[in-house]
Amino acid sequence: MDSLLKQHKQDNPGYLFPDGRGYFGRFGGKFVPEILIPALEELEKHYQIAKSDPAFREERMKHLREYVGRPTPMTFNERMTDFYGTGRIYFKREDLCHTGAHKINNTVGQVLLAMRMGKKRIIAETGAGQHGVATATVCARFGLPCIVYMGAEDMRRQKLNVDRMRLLGAEVRSVESGSKTLKDATNEAIRDWVTNVEDTFYIIGSAVGPHPYPLMVRDFHDVIGLETESQCHELEGRNPDYILACVGGGSNAIGIFHRFIDKPEVKLIGLEAGGEGAATQRTAATFAKGQPGVLHGSLSFLLQTEQGQIALAHSISAGLDYPGVGPEHAHLFDTGRVSYHSVDDHEAMKAVKQCSRLEGIIPAIETAHAIAWLDKLMPQLSKDEFVVVNCSGRGDKDMGTISEYFYGNES
Ligand SMILES: *Cc1c(COP(=O)(O)O)cnc(C)c1O
Repeated sequence: MDSLLKQHKQDNPGYLFPDGRGYFGRFGGKFVPEILIPALEELEKHYQIAKSDPAFREERMKHLREYVGRPTPMTFNERMTDFYGTGRIYFKREDLCHTGAHKINNTVGQVLLAMRMGKKRIIAETGAGQHGVATATVCARFGLPCIVYMGAEDMRRQKLNVDRMRLLGAEVRSVESGSKTLKDATNEAIRDWVTNVEDTFYIIGSAVGPHPYPLMVRDFHDVIGLETESQCHELEGRNPDYILACVGGGSNAIGIFHRFIDKPEVKLIGLEAGGEGAATQRTAATFAKGQPGVLHGSLSFLLQTEQGQIALAHSISAGLDYPGVGPEHAHLFDTGRVSYHSVDDHEAMKAVKQCSRLEGIIPAIETAHAIAWLDKLMPQLSKDEFVVVNCSGRGDKDMGTISEYFYGNES
């Protein structure tokens, strides 16, 4: 690792490396242009104060209740449970959050922090558009101007989300450089932040980015795990035996896992996107295939080419199509506290259909990666064990992909 850091320093003389701060084990840090370090320090300071201020927490919780619709229910999946005939299956219903996924828990938290810091302008980058929509939503709610950077290729593929953002009043800026996808949009957002750091808050959409973002995003999603704990105690009188969650950057997963990290009886499983298979080039299986490297301002596992450049990720689900993973997950992988597996496109799509038919819940394709793992897990369970799957989002946004996959040319 030291030699990796040394090499990165040599290759990037303009980058500054704080020693030890903001690292989860050997992962994390603040790998950003030096000019942004004061902004990250300001953010860290304000976040620490806000975090220990009960008024900030109460305000955040109020918006989560009244606007997002929390607490989200925990649903017992009776037919799915009968289908496997071993153990019991529950869903934590983040798909019932306003805008249809967990992402808004985080954007509500970050926008409230931005206002507390007196920032007047919000920027974000988005790949599939889901984080862009969640950011545009809270900016509309609180009356802040919102600029979303998005690769030109992603804008073409995700036109519906582009129009959603526009309808919500955001300006979507097309990024024409590089592969015209998420990593290029991220570069543009960072460039904007460098230029406008005085009045601008950069909302990052997953548990990734330079410190303190991974920590902050985790804290804003922690409510998922807190509710899960009390709902499990209400419904089953104890903690669950297993928790499953899909992992893109890792925000929904760390949100539900975090509460249980120090409870070894709860087994935690993260499911990453295998794409066409973790052994192929067309994959997003960061742990199965990645190496430590720097992306998006932090050191973590990363899919790389043989030359050490960022590899293009592939998954049928746009939200898992990310070549990196948050640093805290990298650390949990290192320590073995969470086990990570990959689920490929076909297994996920099979789970989309099965879940729809057994439970009347059309899951997001991201979420279906976690649901698909039940095929492997349930046969090993005894009757009195129970599992919670974090149902990170609903599948309405994926109907284009789902139609094409199952019903192709049928009319
Ligand atoms: C964005 C998204 C994900 C992946 O992001 P994480 O930060 O890994 O949670 C998963 N599920 C849904 C529904 C999403 O929209």
